[in-house]
Amino acid sequence: MLAGDHAPFFPVPKAEKGSGTSLASRPTLTVDLSAVGANTRHLSRITQGEVMAVVKADAFGHGAAQVARTALAHGATRLGVTSLAEALALRAERVYAPVLSWLNPVDADWARAVRVGVELAVPSLEHLAAIATLAPGATVHLHLDCGMARDGAEPALWPALCAAARRAEQLGLVRVAGLMGHLSCADVPGDASSTIGRATFDWGVRVARDAGLDPAHRHLAATAATLNDPLSHHTTVRVGAGLFGIDPSGAGRMRPTLTLTAPLIGLRRVGAGTAVGYGQTWTAPTTTQLGLIGVGYADGLPRSASNRAQVLVRGVRRPLVGKISMDMAVIDLGEEGARMGDVVTVFGPGAAGEPTVAEWASWAGTIEHEIMTGLGPRLARARSGGRS
Ligand SMILES: *Cc1c(COP(=O)(O)O)cnc(C)c1O
Repeated sequence: MLAGDHAPFFPVPKAEKGSGTSLASRPTLTVDLSAVGANTRHLSRITQGEVMAVVKADAFGHGAAQVARTALAHGATRLGVTSLAEALALRAERVYAPVLSWLNPVDADWARAVRVGVELAVPSLEHLAAIATLAPGATVHLHLDCGMARDGAEPALWPALCAAARRAEQLGLVRVAGLMGHLSCADVPGDASSTIGRATFDWGVRVARDAGLDPAHRHLAATAATLNDPLSHHTTVRVGAGLFGIDPSGAGRMRPTLTLTAPLIGLRRVGAGTAVGYGQTWTAPTTTQLGLIGVGYADGLPRSASNRAQVLVRGVRRPLVGKISMDMAVIDLGEEGARMGDVVTVFGPGAAGEPTVAEWASWAGTIEHEIMTGLGPRLARARSGGRS
Protein backbone atom coordinates (compact mmCIF):
# COMPACT_ATOMS: atom_id res chain seq x y z
CA MET A 1 0.00 0.00 0.00
CA LEU A 2 1.27 3.44 -0.92
CA ALA A 3 1.24 5.89 1.97
CA GLY A 4 0.58 9.51 1.08
CA ASP A 5 4.13 10.64 1.80
CA HIS A 6 5.72 8.15 -0.58
CA ALA A 7 5.73 9.78 -3.96
CA PRO A 8 5.93 7.10 -6.64
CA PHE A 9 9.40 7.08 -8.19
CA PHE A 10 8.11 6.20 -11.62
CA PRO A 11 5.95 8.44 -13.77
CA VAL A 12 2.29 7.54 -13.43
CA PRO A 13 0.22 8.71 -16.39
CA LYS A 14 -2.64 11.01 -15.44
CA ALA A 15 -5.77 8.92 -15.45
CA GLU A 16 -8.44 10.20 -17.78
CA LYS A 17 -11.87 10.61 -16.26
CA GLY A 18 -13.36 7.17 -15.65
CA SER A 19 -10.56 5.45 -17.52
CA GLY A 20 -10.43 2.60 -15.03
CA THR A 21 -13.91 1.38 -15.87
CA SER A 22 -14.99 3.00 -19.13
CA LEU A 23 -16.00 0.70 -21.93
CA ALA A 24 -13.36 2.32 -24.14
CA SER A 25 -10.71 0.87 -21.85
CA ARG A 26 -11.89 -2.71 -22.38
CA PRO A 27 -12.48 -4.82 -25.45
CA THR A 28 -16.11 -4.02 -26.22
CA LEU A 29 -18.70 -5.39 -28.59
CA THR A 30 -21.31 -2.79 -29.48
CA VAL A 31 -24.63 -3.95 -30.92
CA ASP A 32 -26.44 -1.38 -33.06
CA LEU A 33 -30.08 -2.13 -32.33
CA SER A 34 -31.26 0.54 -34.76
CA ALA A 35 -29.59 -1.48 -37.52
CA VAL A 36 -31.39 -4.61 -36.27
CA GLY A 37 -34.62 -2.62 -36.42
CA ALA A 38 -33.92 -1.36 -39.94
CA ASN A 39 -33.06 -4.87 -41.12
CA THR A 40 -36.29 -6.22 -39.63
CA ARG A 41 -38.29 -3.52 -41.38
CA HIS A 42 -36.61 -4.27 -44.70
CA LEU A 43 -37.32 -7.99 -44.42
CA SER A 44 -40.94 -7.28 -43.42
CA ARG A 45 -41.39 -4.98 -46.40
CA ILE A 46 -40.26 -7.55 -48.95
CA THR A 47 -42.62 -10.29 -47.84
CA GLN A 48 -46.42 -10.36 -47.80
CA GLY A 49 -46.64 -12.57 -44.75
CA GLU A 50 -45.30 -12.70 -41.23
CA VAL A 51 -41.69 -12.43 -40.09
CA MET A 52 -40.40 -14.90 -37.52
CA ALA A 53 -37.24 -13.41 -36.00
CA VAL A 54 -34.73 -16.20 -35.37
CA VAL A 55 -32.84 -15.37 -32.18
CA LYS A 56 -30.97 -18.66 -31.73
CA ALA A 57 -27.43 -18.74 -30.36
CA ASP A 58 -28.15 -15.63 -28.26
CA ALA A 59 -29.31 -13.89 -31.44
CA PHE A 60 -26.02 -14.67 -33.22
CA GLY A 61 -24.17 -13.23 -30.23
CA HIS A 62 -26.21 -9.99 -30.16
CA GLY A 63 -28.31 -10.74 -27.06
CA ALA A 64 -31.49 -12.76 -27.61
CA ALA A 65 -33.92 -10.77 -25.49
CA GLN A 66 -32.89 -7.33 -26.70
CA VAL A 67 -32.92 -8.44 -30.34
CA ALA A 68 -36.30 -10.13 -29.84
CA ARG A 69 -37.79 -6.94 -28.43
CA THR A 70 -36.25 -4.83 -31.19
CA ALA A 71 -37.42 -7.15 -33.98
CA LEU A 72 -40.94 -7.33 -32.52
CA ALA A 73 -41.04 -3.54 -32.39
CA HIS A 74 -40.06 -3.31 -36.08
CA GLY A 75 -42.39 -5.75 -37.77
CA ALA A 76 -41.60 -9.29 -36.61
CA THR A 77 -44.60 -11.07 -35.11
CA ARG A 78 -43.03 -14.33 -33.98
CA LEU A 79 -39.73 -15.68 -32.69
CA GLY A 80 -37.77 -18.80 -33.51
CA VAL A 81 -35.06 -20.62 -31.55
CA THR A 82 -33.46 -24.03 -31.58
CA SER A 83 -33.62 -25.64 -28.14
CA LEU A 84 -36.29 -25.36 -25.52
CA ALA A 85 -33.64 -23.86 -23.23
CA GLU A 86 -33.36 -20.90 -25.61
CA ALA A 87 -37.14 -20.47 -25.61
CA LEU A 88 -37.31 -20.66 -21.81
CA ALA A 89 -34.55 -18.05 -21.57
CA LEU A 90 -36.72 -15.65 -23.58
CA ARG A 91 -39.68 -16.26 -21.27
CA ALA A 92 -37.40 -15.70 -18.27
CA GLU A 93 -36.57 -12.29 -19.82
CA ARG A 94 -40.30 -11.62 -20.06
CA VAL A 95 -40.53 -11.93 -23.81
CA TYR A 96 -44.00 -13.39 -24.36
CA ALA A 97 -44.38 -13.28 -28.16
CA PRO A 98 -45.16 -16.56 -29.93
CA VAL A 99 -41.96 -18.58 -30.06
CA LEU A 100 -41.18 -21.78 -31.95
CA SER A 101 -38.49 -24.20 -30.74
CA TRP A 102 -37.28 -26.63 -33.41
CA LEU A 103 -34.34 -28.67 -32.21
CA ASN A 104 -34.96 -30.90 -29.20
CA PRO A 105 -34.25 -34.43 -28.09
CA VAL A 106 -37.23 -36.72 -27.90
CA ASP A 107 -37.19 -36.59 -24.07
CA ALA A 108 -37.20 -32.81 -23.74
CA ASP A 109 -39.28 -31.22 -20.99
CA TRP A 110 -42.34 -30.91 -23.25
CA ALA A 111 -44.76 -30.23 -20.39
CA ARG A 112 -42.72 -27.20 -19.36
CA ALA A 113 -42.70 -25.95 -22.95
CA VAL A 114 -46.48 -26.05 -23.06
CA ARG A 115 -46.83 -24.35 -19.66
CA VAL A 116 -44.92 -21.32 -20.96
CA GLY A 117 -46.61 -21.35 -24.35
CA VAL A 118 -43.68 -22.44 -26.51
CA GLU A 119 -44.63 -23.93 -29.86
CA LEU A 120 -42.78 -27.08 -30.85
CA ALA A 121 -41.44 -28.37 -34.14
CA VAL A 122 -42.10 -32.05 -34.74
CA PRO A 123 -39.56 -33.79 -36.99
CA SER A 124 -40.50 -37.42 -36.27
CA LEU A 125 -43.20 -39.81 -35.08
CA GLU A 126 -41.18 -40.32 -31.90
CA HIS A 127 -41.31 -36.61 -31.13
CA LEU A 128 -45.01 -36.48 -31.87
CA ALA A 129 -45.75 -39.42 -29.56
CA ALA A 130 -43.69 -37.95 -26.72
CA ILE A 131 -45.32 -34.54 -27.03
CA ALA A 132 -48.86 -35.93 -27.30
CA THR A 133 -48.26 -38.12 -24.25
CA LEU A 134 -46.37 -35.74 -21.98
CA ALA A 135 -47.70 -32.36 -23.06
CA PRO A 136 -51.30 -32.63 -24.20
CA GLY A 137 -52.49 -29.38 -25.68
CA ALA A 138 -49.16 -28.54 -27.33
CA THR A 139 -49.10 -26.32 -30.40
CA VAL A 140 -46.86 -27.94 -33.01
CA HIS A 141 -45.33 -27.29 -36.41
CA LEU A 142 -44.60 -30.41 -38.46
CA HIS A 143 -41.10 -30.22 -39.94
CA LEU A 144 -40.43 -31.66 -43.40
CA ASP A 145 -36.90 -32.20 -44.72
CA CYS A 146 -36.78 -30.35 -48.04
CA GLY A 147 -33.37 -31.49 -49.24
CA MET A 148 -30.82 -31.32 -46.44
CA ALA A 149 -30.95 -34.80 -44.87
CA ARG A 150 -30.49 -33.04 -41.57
CA ASP A 151 -33.42 -32.06 -39.37
CA GLY A 152 -37.05 -32.61 -40.34
CA ALA A 153 -38.98 -35.72 -41.36
CA GLU A 154 -37.86 -37.62 -44.44
CA PRO A 155 -40.43 -37.25 -47.21
CA ALA A 156 -41.03 -41.01 -47.14
CA LEU A 157 -42.23 -40.71 -43.53
CA TRP A 158 -44.22 -37.50 -44.04
CA PRO A 159 -47.63 -39.01 -44.92
CA ALA A 160 -47.49 -41.17 -41.78
CA LEU A 161 -46.45 -38.18 -39.65
CA CYS A 162 -49.31 -36.08 -41.02
CA ALA A 163 -51.82 -38.89 -40.42
CA ALA A 164 -50.62 -39.44 -36.84
CA ALA A 165 -50.68 -35.69 -36.16
CA ARG A 166 -54.23 -35.51 -37.44
CA ARG A 167 -55.29 -38.35 -35.12
CA ALA A 168 -53.60 -36.63 -32.18
CA GLU A 169 -55.31 -33.39 -33.13
CA GLN A 170 -58.73 -35.09 -33.23
CA LEU A 171 -58.04 -36.47 -29.74
CA GLY A 172 -57.25 -32.94 -28.57
CA LEU A 173 -53.64 -33.85 -27.78
CA VAL A 174 -51.94 -31.39 -30.17
CA ARG A 175 -52.88 -28.49 -32.37
CA VAL A 176 -51.03 -28.44 -35.70
CA ALA A 177 -50.49 -24.72 -36.24
CA GLY A 178 -47.69 -24.91 -38.75
CA LEU A 179 -45.59 -26.71 -41.33
CA MET A 180 -41.92 -25.96 -41.83
CA GLY A 181 -39.10 -26.78 -44.22
CA HIS A 182 -35.63 -25.37 -44.91
CA LEU A 183 -33.66 -24.85 -48.14
CA SER A 184 -30.06 -25.94 -48.59
CA CYS A 185 -28.74 -23.55 -51.26
CA ALA A 186 -30.93 -20.46 -51.12
CA ASP A 187 -27.81 -18.26 -50.98
CA VAL A 188 -27.24 -19.14 -54.64
CA PRO A 189 -30.11 -17.43 -56.50
CA GLY A 190 -31.74 -19.76 -59.00
CA ASP A 191 -30.03 -22.90 -57.70
CA ALA A 192 -31.86 -26.00 -58.90
CA SER A 193 -32.05 -27.44 -55.39
CA SER A 194 -34.32 -24.53 -54.39
CA THR A 195 -36.81 -25.45 -57.11
CA ILE A 196 -36.80 -29.02 -55.82
CA GLY A 197 -36.99 -27.90 -52.18
CA ARG A 198 -39.96 -25.63 -52.94
CA ALA A 199 -41.73 -28.44 -54.79
CA THR A 200 -41.09 -30.80 -51.88
CA PHE A 201 -42.60 -28.30 -49.46
CA ASP A 202 -45.63 -27.69 -51.72
CA TRP A 203 -46.13 -31.45 -51.84
CA GLY A 204 -45.82 -31.60 -48.05
CA VAL A 205 -48.55 -28.96 -47.68
CA ARG A 206 -50.87 -30.93 -49.99
CA VAL A 207 -50.25 -34.16 -48.07
CA ALA A 208 -50.98 -32.41 -44.77
CA ARG A 209 -54.21 -30.93 -46.14
CA ASP A 210 -55.25 -34.29 -47.58
CA ALA A 211 -54.76 -35.73 -44.08
CA GLY A 212 -57.25 -33.16 -42.77
CA LEU A 213 -54.75 -30.67 -41.29
CA ASP A 214 -55.17 -26.96 -41.83
CA PRO A 215 -51.96 -25.32 -40.56
CA ALA A 216 -52.12 -21.52 -40.61
CA HIS A 217 -48.34 -21.00 -40.59
CA ARG A 218 -46.33 -22.41 -43.47
CA HIS A 219 -42.67 -21.46 -43.50
CA LEU A 220 -39.80 -22.47 -45.73
CA ALA A 221 -37.66 -19.37 -46.32
CA ALA A 222 -34.78 -18.22 -44.14
CA THR A 223 -32.90 -14.97 -44.88
CA ALA A 224 -31.41 -15.97 -48.23
CA ALA A 225 -34.70 -17.20 -49.68
CA THR A 226 -36.55 -14.23 -48.20
CA LEU A 227 -34.19 -11.92 -50.10
CA ASN A 228 -33.89 -13.92 -53.33
CA ASP A 229 -36.89 -16.16 -53.82
CA PRO A 230 -40.39 -14.75 -53.25
CA LEU A 231 -41.92 -18.06 -54.37
CA SER A 232 -40.61 -19.59 -51.14
CA HIS A 233 -42.25 -17.13 -48.75
CA HIS A 234 -45.57 -18.90 -48.04
CA THR A 235 -47.28 -17.39 -44.95
CA THR A 236 -44.18 -16.72 -42.84
CA VAL A 237 -40.42 -16.28 -43.29
CA ARG A 238 -37.93 -17.34 -40.62
CA VAL A 239 -35.07 -14.85 -40.65
CA GLY A 240 -31.94 -14.83 -38.52
CA ALA A 241 -28.83 -13.76 -40.44
CA GLY A 242 -30.49 -10.80 -42.15
CA LEU A 243 -31.42 -9.23 -38.83
CA PHE A 244 -27.71 -9.13 -38.06
CA GLY A 245 -26.63 -7.54 -41.33
CA ILE A 246 -25.74 -10.73 -43.16
CA ASP A 247 -26.81 -11.00 -46.79
CA PRO A 248 -25.99 -14.66 -47.49
CA SER A 249 -25.75 -14.11 -51.24
CA GLY A 250 -23.11 -11.44 -50.70
CA ALA A 251 -25.13 -8.62 -52.26
CA GLY A 252 -24.75 -6.47 -49.15
CA ARG A 253 -28.40 -5.50 -48.81
CA MET A 254 -28.52 -5.54 -44.99
CA ARG A 255 -27.10 -3.09 -42.46
CA PRO A 256 -24.15 -4.24 -40.32
CA THR A 257 -24.92 -4.42 -36.63
CA LEU A 258 -21.68 -5.06 -34.73
CA THR A 259 -18.58 -3.07 -33.81
CA LEU A 260 -15.68 -4.56 -31.88
CA THR A 261 -13.18 -2.16 -30.34
CA ALA A 262 -10.18 -2.73 -28.08
CA PRO A 263 -7.68 -0.33 -26.56
CA LEU A 264 -3.97 -0.55 -27.23
CA ILE A 265 -2.56 -2.02 -24.05
CA GLY A 266 1.01 -2.42 -25.18
CA LEU A 267 3.39 -0.56 -27.49
CA ARG A 268 6.96 -1.25 -28.44
CA ARG A 269 9.49 -0.20 -31.01
CA VAL A 270 11.31 -3.11 -32.62
CA GLY A 271 14.14 -3.48 -35.08
CA ALA A 272 14.19 -5.26 -38.40
CA GLY A 273 14.29 -9.03 -37.89
CA THR A 274 12.21 -9.08 -34.71
CA ALA A 275 9.92 -12.13 -34.72
CA VAL A 276 6.40 -11.94 -33.30
CA GLY A 277 4.27 -14.42 -31.40
CA TYR A 278 3.96 -18.20 -31.16
CA GLY A 279 5.96 -19.95 -33.83
CA GLN A 280 7.57 -16.64 -34.85
CA THR A 281 5.47 -16.66 -38.01
CA TRP A 282 6.09 -12.98 -38.81
CA THR A 283 9.31 -11.04 -38.74
CA ALA A 284 9.54 -7.26 -38.91
CA PRO A 285 11.09 -6.32 -42.26
CA THR A 286 12.14 -2.90 -40.96
CA THR A 287 12.14 -0.94 -37.75
CA THR A 288 8.52 -0.51 -36.73
CA GLN A 289 6.12 0.02 -33.85
CA LEU A 290 4.07 -2.92 -32.57
CA GLY A 291 0.79 -2.54 -30.69
CA LEU A 292 -0.97 -5.06 -28.49
CA ILE A 293 -4.69 -5.57 -28.03
CA GLY A 294 -6.19 -7.86 -25.40
CA VAL A 295 -8.47 -9.80 -27.72
CA GLY A 296 -7.68 -13.26 -29.02
CA TYR A 297 -9.24 -16.43 -30.25
CA ALA A 298 -10.94 -17.06 -26.90
CA ASP A 299 -12.86 -13.87 -27.66
CA GLY A 300 -13.71 -15.01 -31.16
CA LEU A 301 -10.91 -13.66 -33.33
CA PRO A 302 -10.30 -16.63 -35.60
CA ARG A 303 -6.74 -17.89 -35.33
CA SER A 304 -6.95 -18.89 -38.97
CA ALA A 305 -6.99 -15.16 -39.85
CA SER A 306 -3.46 -14.75 -38.41
CA ASN A 307 -1.13 -12.80 -40.69
CA ARG A 308 -4.09 -11.85 -42.91
CA ALA A 309 -6.44 -9.77 -40.79
CA GLN A 310 -6.38 -6.00 -40.42
CA VAL A 311 -7.70 -3.51 -37.88
CA LEU A 312 -8.26 0.25 -37.93
CA VAL A 313 -5.93 2.42 -35.82
CA ARG A 314 -6.18 6.21 -35.93
CA GLY A 315 -8.11 6.01 -39.18
CA VAL A 316 -5.57 3.77 -40.92
CA ARG A 317 -5.77 0.05 -41.60
CA ARG A 318 -2.93 -1.89 -40.01
CA PRO A 319 -2.14 -5.59 -40.28
CA LEU A 320 -2.28 -8.04 -37.41
CA VAL A 321 1.06 -9.82 -37.36
CA GLY A 322 2.11 -13.15 -35.94
CA LYS A 323 -0.29 -15.79 -34.67
CA ILE A 324 -3.45 -14.54 -32.99
CA SER A 325 -3.13 -15.88 -29.43
CA MET A 326 -5.87 -16.98 -27.07
CA ASP A 327 -6.02 -13.62 -25.31
CA MET A 328 -4.20 -11.10 -27.48
CA ALA A 329 -3.10 -10.04 -30.91
CA VAL A 330 -0.25 -7.85 -32.21
CA ILE A 331 -0.61 -5.02 -34.72
CA ASP A 332 2.13 -3.66 -36.96
CA LEU A 333 1.60 0.07 -36.46
CA GLY A 334 4.38 1.27 -38.74
CA GLU A 335 5.84 4.63 -37.83
CA GLU A 336 2.69 6.64 -37.22
CA GLY A 337 2.94 7.26 -33.52
CA ALA A 338 -0.01 5.47 -31.97
CA ARG A 339 -0.49 6.01 -28.24
CA MET A 340 -1.21 3.71 -25.34
CA GLY A 341 -5.00 3.60 -24.88
CA ASP A 342 -5.83 4.42 -28.49
CA VAL A 343 -9.04 2.59 -29.36
CA VAL A 344 -8.56 0.10 -32.17
CA THR A 345 -11.54 -0.92 -34.29
CA VAL A 346 -11.30 -4.64 -34.97
CA PHE A 347 -14.44 -4.64 -37.10
CA GLY A 348 -17.47 -2.47 -37.66
CA PRO A 349 -19.91 -1.37 -40.36
CA GLY A 350 -17.00 -0.26 -42.55
CA ALA A 351 -18.06 3.36 -42.88
CA ALA A 352 -14.80 4.73 -41.44
CA GLY A 353 -12.64 2.30 -43.35
CA GLU A 354 -12.57 -0.35 -40.64
CA PRO A 355 -12.78 -4.02 -41.62
CA THR A 356 -16.22 -5.63 -41.61
CA VAL A 357 -17.32 -8.96 -40.16
CA ALA A 358 -17.56 -10.15 -43.77
CA GLU A 359 -13.85 -9.38 -44.30
CA TRP A 360 -12.93 -11.19 -41.10
CA ALA A 361 -14.95 -14.15 -42.32
CA SER A 362 -13.10 -14.21 -45.62
CA TRP A 363 -9.70 -13.88 -43.89
CA ALA A 364 -10.64 -16.89 -41.77
CA GLY A 365 -12.14 -18.89 -44.64
CA THR A 366 -15.56 -18.99 -43.00
CA ILE A 367 -18.91 -17.21 -43.01
CA GLU A 368 -20.05 -14.18 -41.01
CA HIS A 369 -22.38 -16.36 -38.94
CA GLU A 370 -19.42 -18.22 -37.45
CA ILE A 371 -17.55 -15.03 -36.58
CA MET A 372 -20.64 -13.55 -34.88
CA THR A 373 -21.58 -16.63 -32.90
CA GLY A 374 -17.97 -17.14 -31.79
CA LEU A 375 -17.63 -13.81 -29.99
CA GLY A 376 -16.77 -14.70 -26.43
CA PRO A 377 -18.23 -13.87 -23.04
CA ARG A 378 -15.20 -11.84 -21.95
CA LEU A 379 -16.03 -9.01 -24.32
CA ALA A 380 -17.91 -6.19 -22.65
CA ARG A 381 -21.28 -5.68 -24.31
CA ALA A 382 -22.73 -2.31 -25.17
CA ARG A 383 -25.59 -1.28 -27.35
CA SER A 384 -26.43 1.72 -29.41
CA GLY A 385 -29.57 3.01 -31.06
CA GLY A 386 -32.45 1.10 -29.59
CA ARG A 387 -34.56 -0.28 -26.84
CA SER A 388 -33.39 -2.79 -24.27
C1 LIG B 1 -30.98 -20.71 -38.36
C2 LIG B 1 -32.23 -21.15 -38.98
C3 LIG B 1 -33.02 -20.21 -39.67
C4 LIG B 1 -32.58 -18.80 -39.93
O1 LIG B 1 -31.66 -18.85 -41.00
P1 LIG B 1 -30.92 -17.53 -41.48
O2 LIG B 1 -30.19 -17.95 -42.70
O3 LIG B 1 -30.01 -17.17 -40.36
O4 LIG B 1 -31.96 -16.50 -41.72
C5 LIG B 1 -34.23 -20.64 -40.17
N1 LIG B 1 -34.65 -21.91 -40.02
C6 LIG B 1 -33.89 -22.85 -39.39
C7 LIG B 1 -34.41 -24.23 -39.27
C8 LIG B 1 -32.66 -22.49 -38.85
O5 LIG B 1 -31.93 -23.41 -38.24
